[in-house]
Amino acid sequence: MRPIDATHDPGLTSWVSSANREGCDFPIQNLPFAVFRRARSREPLRCGVAIGDYVLDLAALGAGIAPDALSARALAACAEPTLNALMALGAPAWRAVRRLLSQLLRAGAREAESVAAALVAQSAAEFAVPARSGDFTDFYTSIHHATAVGRLFRPDRPLLPNYAWVPIAYHGRSSSIVVSGTPVRRPRGQLMPRGALSPCLGASDQLDYELELGVFIGGGNRLGEPIPIEQAEAHVFGLCLLNDWSARDIQTWEYQPLGPFLAKNFATTVSPWVVTLEALAPFRAPWQRAAQHPPPLPYLDSPELRAAGAVEIELEVLLQTALMRARDQPPERLSQSNFSDSYWSIAQMVAHHTVNGCNVLPGDLLGTGTQSGPLPEQAGSLLELTRAGTCPRVLLSGESRGFLADGDRVILRAGCHRPGFVRIGFGEAAGEVLPPWDPSGG
Ligand code: MN
Repeated sequence: MRPIDATHDPGLTSWVSSANREGCDFPIQNLPFAVFRRARSREPLRCGVAIGDYVLDLAALGAGIAPDALSARALAACAEPTLNALMALGAPAWRAVRRLLSQLLRAGAREAESVAAALVAQSAAEFAVPARSGDFTDFYTSIHHATAVGRLFRPDRPLLPNYAWVPIAYHGRSSSIVVSGTPVRRPRGQLMPRGALSPCLGASDQLDYELELGVFIGGGNRLGEPIPIEQAEAHVFGLCLLNDWSARDIQTWEYQPLGPFLAKNFATTVSPWVVTLEALAPFRAPWQRAAQHPPPLPYLDSPELRAAGAVEIELEVLLQTALMRARDQPPERLSQSNFSDSYWSIAQMVAHHTVNGCNVLPGDLLGTGTQSGPLPEQAGSLLELTRAGTCPRVLLSGESRGFLADGDRVILRAGCHRPGFVRIGFGEAAGEVLPPWDPSGG
């Protein structure tokens, strides 16, 4: 568990005045990492940290500003075009660089003038996928999502018996992980229309989003050597927003018996910013299991988990249609949920993933699965919100949606707040739906 320390002090302010604005996602208590360069430039990609409306260019800062060897190594790793090198250094290095950045950016810092030269406006930057992920695994940690989806397909027994015991997941695809802002093309695939005798190839008619968090692995484990749950969080660098775009019609036809394949591997959108577990320390909560469910097996249980294994992160999904954009109407919120309602925790995901000896590597990405809350309006996908499209959602623009239409822009946002601490945010993970690929080139 990461400690609460001086970097979380609610009294801290920054000489970057936009970081002190009420409601800002990136106050000095947050300091999330990203990979960026100036927009439309040929500059090399490098790592940066968010402060207010700016990115602090960690490569421009230079390792010379670091007061000790560990933070110097961490800063040097930030000149790389991905966060992998920093992730591989491990939790002591992440803590050291956070402490250094907190000192350099706080109001009254002696170094303010030289550090200011390394600020780039976020509006003038373009971002890349934050890490090179060798593997992407998507879990299914929300029991509310699992139950609501199960009810649509198996009204008599929505939750399968293994759910209470196994953190369910499938191995996804890392080549199609894209950063926020990248358009997402509506996929084509095999569809089995209701009542048809044979399937056809066509564009998905049931394109959906999934409101998730991504978990970036920092230090990995050796093949054959499981990560015990007590050490699991020491292997986690931080969290991002993640939209696991899903084509429900392709999924329905293909998923048995081996699970999702082409219904989900055409695109996964992540936020550019990775919020570290250090930054999330003030927002931890006890991990709890309702009395009607069995306690987890011992390899998925620990005193630390019971004390503070959950994280309170408010999640929301918004939609802006092409018509709303044309009319200058803001995105409309479709739902909100909270990661503290998750049935399985981050540490349980890591411990379970490696219990058979499977190795995880720096930069590997774990999705939490769709995060839905206990109430129907807290659903993290249209599949649940519109009951598989049968009860379309009527928007303020007068339009309605069972599933996504071309031109729709889906935006995920998240933030943490707790009395006595400064609110921190995740930025956003956004993507616009493009029409399907036209093989005639038209
Ligand atoms: Mn998913």
